[in-house]
Amino acid sequence: MEIIDFAARKAEREPHWSGECICAGCRHVWAGVGPIGKIDGLECPACGASKGHTRHPMLRDKALLQCSCGSTTFMIAPEGAYCTNCADWFDSSYVTGG
Ligand SMILES: [Zn+2]
Ligand SMILES: [Zn+2]
Repeated sequence: MEIIDFAARKAEREPHWSGECICAGCRHVWAGVGPIGKIDGLECPACGASKGHTRHPMLRDKALLQCSCGSTTFMIAPEGAYCTNCADWFDSSYVTGG
């Protein structure tokens, strides 16, 4: 008798994205898939940390902020922005590119 996991079957039918992902921790790049709306907190297949995110989110053609650890992903808190990899607070010296 086949046992059907209805939750898994339903998840398979829901819309998914696929594309390059990058780990904010070890900078590993991989081809990932995920449900629409889940674009960060992805488990890195190289180091196992949940620091992966989609590599090409919507970006404007402007200078990007880059932390001293190399990450370009920040969270915004009431006190300011901080790096999602090392938790360093944003500093205006982090502005790069352009
Ligand atoms: Zn990693
Ligand atoms: Zn950092």
